[in-house]
Amino acid sequence: MKHLLSAEDLGRDEAIAILDTAEQMSLLGDRSVKKLPTLRGRTVVNLFYEDSTRTRTSFELAAKRLSADVVNFSARGSSVSKGESLKDTALTLEAMGSDAVVIRHPASGAPHRLSSWIRGSVVNAGDGTHEHPTQALLDAFTMRRRLGRVNDLSVTIVGDVLHSRVARSNVRLLHTLGAGVTLVAPPTLLPVGVETWPAEISYDLDAVLPKSDVVMMLRVQAERMNAAFFPTEREYSRRYGLDADRMAMLPDHALVMHPGPMVRGMEIASEVADSVRSTVVEQVANGVSVRMAVLYLLLGGSPE
Ligand code: ASP
Repeated sequence: MKHLLSAEDLGRDEAIAILDTAEQMSLLGDRSVKKLPTLRGRTVVNLFYEDSTRTRTSFELAAKRLSADVVNFSARGSSVSKGESLKDTALTLEAMGSDAVVIRHPASGAPHRLSSWIRGSVVNAGDGTHEHPTQALLDAFTMRRRLGRVNDLSVTIVGDVLHSRVARSNVRLLHTLGAGVTLVAPPTLLPVGVETWPAEISYDLDAVLPKSDVVMMLRVQAERMNAAFFPTEREYSRRYGLDADRMAMLPDHALVMHPGPMVRGMEIASEVADSVRSTVVEQVANGVSVRMAVLYLLLGGSPE
């Protein structure tokens, strides 16, 4: 594997190798010295054209824990604001000797283009509404840790599927790993062609919850909405938000997940976000281990 561009590219064995490697990496998090020498002398560039808290810092920490040199490049305050193209920026970074570029970009497909221009590895850290493969991997990792497996789990993904790269990547990876996925959203927030996805569709959250092992809440991505997709926030939250009453409908073992950033009171109530079922903070911690595994495997490590 040279690049990680989409969850769709990952076969079952490859995905499992990443999760197993991440498991090894996570052992490091419990040590007082959290560093491995594996990527010493290699350079990882974080190229972020969109804001991010978790993903950028997570990749940075992951690369640093493997002893790589890390360059953080954000479009704001760089020559990008002077009109430099992605291609010129990428070639500049490569000329400085980067071995891997982690890219987040508002245009779907940007990481793919980038991979044809540079020699090093490209990792998609979120491209438009398309994919966010490391998020899906860290979600699968979290499910496997908490529930012992991903195969055969019933996973319900709720909310703004239309704008969600997290949903797209999760549907693909979960399908590859043998889980059953149900999407719950208002019809206006489901993409055209969703019937071809390997997932069931439902408009009734209350009917699906009692059968779910995992419920994954998505943020309503107001910044990608140029029209009204639902009447009011209150109405949205009443029908598709997860509050304590709804959470009580889940089986005892079920998990509540959210990729962050959460809009408390909108798609998820505070008492749910902070409950023992919520894996939100664990997902963040697991993200570092999973990204270490991805960088390690892309830059030449073996799963052992
Ligand atoms: N942080 C995730 C992403 O960048 C989810 C979100 O923004 O709601 O796709």
